[in-house]
Amino acid sequence: MKAFEYVDVKTPESAAAALPADASMNEPRRSVYLKAGGIDLIDMLKERDIEPNRLLNLKAGEADLRYIRLDGDTIRIGPLVTLHQLSADPIVVEHFPGLAQAAGEAATPQIRNVATVGGNLCQRPRCWYFRAAEFNCLKKGGDICFAKEGENQYHAVFGDGPSYIVHPSNLAVPLTAVDAEIEVRNPEGTRVIRTSEFFVMPDENVMVENVLGPTDVIAELRIPTGIKQSSYYEVREKQSYDWPLVAATAALTSEGWRVVMGAVAPVPWRASETEEILGSKPMTAELAAEAAEAAVAGAKPLRYNRYKLDLIKVVVRRALTRAAGLEDYA
Ligand SMILES: Cc1cc2nc3c(=O)[nH]c(=O)nc-3n(C[C@H](O)[C@H](O)[C@H](O)COP(=O)(O)OP(=O)(O)OC[C@H]3O[C@@H](n4cnc5c(N)ncnc54)[C@H](O)[C@@H]3O)c2cc1C
Ligand code: SF4
Repeated sequence: MKAFEYVDVKTPESAAAALPADASMNEPRRSVYLKAGGIDLIDMLKERDIEPNRLLNLKAGEADLRYIRLDGDTIRIGPLVTLHQLSADPIVVEHFPGLAQAAGEAATPQIRNVATVGGNLCQRPRCWYFRAAEFNCLKKGGDICFAKEGENQYHAVFGDGPSYIVHPSNLAVPLTAVDAEIEVRNPEGTRVIRTSEFFVMPDENVMVENVLGPTDVIAELRIPTGIKQSSYYEVREKQSYDWPLVAATAALTSEGWRVVMGAVAPVPWRASETEEILGSKPMTAELAAEAAEAAVAGAKPLRYNRYKLDLIKVVVRRALTRAAGLEDYA
């Protein structure tokens, strides 16, 4: 492994000031990277997908950046809150169980103890062609998506390319359902991005997965309270040490039911036709089953991932009944 400097940074502001402004977050030759828990970043480093000269260790600011607070009608979450902490926090469990469930079902207990919310949202895709140095695919600046005609059993069924990754973050699914705010610091100041505008489709820019600029650092997540019911439900091949095959959050907001799916598209994917059927109606098992059938509207499966369509119907139905407390999936 190439030698690199390891520098502690204690605040998003000092991290932003130390990041190079001239290379995008995902530029493989970028010289400086921000590290939070390091689960994905160190993985990329060990695989030689990135070869930085310097890592900025944001964990040095853990004492101040690992908080969950109720502030009026907003839950404020620091960027270094771990997945385990999120899954067990009484404020999150009471006001947004769908987020606690998504955090608690990710990865493995060991990873959940280290991985942070900021890093979870910014982790890179799991596509095996992307992760293997031999394949210079579109996302790495090449001119072909190897998954489109290749081994695409874990890839997207929505979105129509040109890259068929699925977004890997569990947290992105419930956060998109309630359109949480992401506060970002950079050397110019602070900006707030709605979750619905944070993730980027590959036809807009195939090289990135989110709108963060080279010196943007996530400083806080803000979630509105007042979500009446919410859940997260997923199906995976292995119960641990894996990512979901299909996931969904159902949340009853002041504007009606929001249903967002994970692991089916390059960004968290709203099931709009399902939402239309649901409106703000009280949930029943029959309504959940009817609305879940509509969640596959517009899907275009690839050669090996048609099975995801059946999973989507099951996962969305169970997310809805779980949110309404109709069945116990504990
Ligand atoms: C076996 C295995 C199974 C897994 N299963 C799941 C799963 O089921 N669901 C799931 O969601 N995840 C899963 N993961 C992924 C894991 O949850 C993420 O890698 C982890 O959450 C990343 O967080 P981190 O703090 O370690 O980030 P890091 O690895 O430190 O950083 C990841 C990226 O985020 C950037 N970053 C970190 N913090 C910030 C910030 N504050 N502002 C801007 N950019 C930032 C870094 O620069 C880097 O680019 C799995 C991982 C493994 C190894
Ligand atoms: S799905 Fe995306 S990351 Fe995977 S091979 Fe195609 S372009 Fe590359």
